[in-house]
Amino acid sequence: MNTKQSENLMKLQKIGEIQVKVAPHHSVNHSKGVISEIEFQRDLEDDILECLKDQKVIAVRRITIKTNNQNFPTKHVILTFNTPILPKSVKISYMNCPVRHFIPNPLRCFKCQRFGHTITACRSKQICARCSLPDHDSNNCSSTSPKCYNCNGDHPAFFRSCPCYKQEKEILTVKITKTFPFQKPEKSSTTEHPSLAFHIHQH
Ligand SMILES: [Zn+2]
Ligand SMILES: [Zn+2]
Ligand SMILES: [Zn+2]
Repeated sequence: MNTKQSENLMKLQKIGEIQVKVAPHHSVNHSKGVISEIEFQRDLEDDILECLKDQKVIAVRRITIKTNNQNFPTKHVILTFNTPILPKSVKISYMNCPVRHFIPNPLRCFKCQRFGHTITACRSKQICARCSLPDHDSNNCSSTSPKCYNCNGDHPAFFRSCPCYKQEKEILTVKITKTFPFQKPEKSSTTEHPSLAFHIHQH
C-alpha cells in the first residue's frame, strides 16, 4: 500500500452524509473472501480449513440459509485470510476456486432505523420501522400505510430494495474492495503492506 492508496482510504471515512469507519488495526490486516463451489457444498468447515491453512486462511465459515427454522448449508464459504491482500483464487485438492470479496449486509439499527450502528450503540429515540413515527415499534404499529424513515418511500425501513439500503451496500462495497485489494499476479507478494495498519492506526 502506497501513500496515495492510504489517502484514498482515509477519504473513505466520509462518503456523502454517511460516516464510514475504518476498521481497527487487527481486522485491517485480515481480509475476507467468498468462494462458491458446489463440489465442496457438503464439506465441513474444519476440513476446508485444513486444506487452506497453508494458503493464509485462518478461518472458514459456510453461509447458511434459514428455512422453517432450520439452517441449510449453501455453496458459499467465507474465508478469512491473515493478510489485507486477497488472493484471486485458492486451491482445494487441486481445484482452483476463484475468490470474491465478502461484502456483509449493511447494519441497520432496530431502534432508530438509521444505518451504521446496532441497537446497543444507539443514542437516538425509538422510531417505528413500519411508519417512521416515534415512540412505538413495528409490532405495535397501527398505521395502514408504510413509510420508510430513511428514504420516505412507501415501504418499511427493513425493505431490502430501499434506495438507502442499496446505497449503504454500495458504500460498503467500495470501502471493502479499496481496503482489501486483490493480489496482483505479476508482483511478488507481501513486502509493501506493513504500512497499511500503521497509516490507519495513526489517523
Ligand atoms: Zn439507532
Ligand atoms: Zn408505526
Ligand atoms: Zn427506504
